[in-house]
Amino acid sequence: MSLNQQTQVSTRGKKSFEVLVIKDRCKECSLCIELCPPKILERDSSYNRFGYRPTRVTDNSKCVGCRICEYACPEFAIFVKEVKQ
Ligand code: SF4
Ligand code: SF4
Repeated sequence: MSLNQQTQVSTRGKKSFEVLVIKDRCKECSLCIELCPPKILERDSSYNRFGYRPTRVTDNSKCVGCRICEYACPEFAIFVKEVKQ
């Protein structure tokens, strides 16, 4: 199975976080974009295979690993995990 994914790694203090967006699951509802505390999520300019513009990460170095985006997403399209250093 081929998933159209975007991954970035951030460092915040001693912790690093990986934000994964499964682009083809995104329905462009903007919940994650509105709720992200540091406002580092935005709408991509390109479209996924279903005609939606998926969320993308603008500055992953500011991700605090709160997982609000992950909890809020009704489509299970965005995930955050801590990366062991
Ligand atoms: S984990 Fe928090 S800070 Fe990081 S992208 Fe998601 S909502 Fe934004
Ligand atoms: S909450 Fe999920 S479906 Fe909605 S814009 Fe964000 S990634 Fe896409």
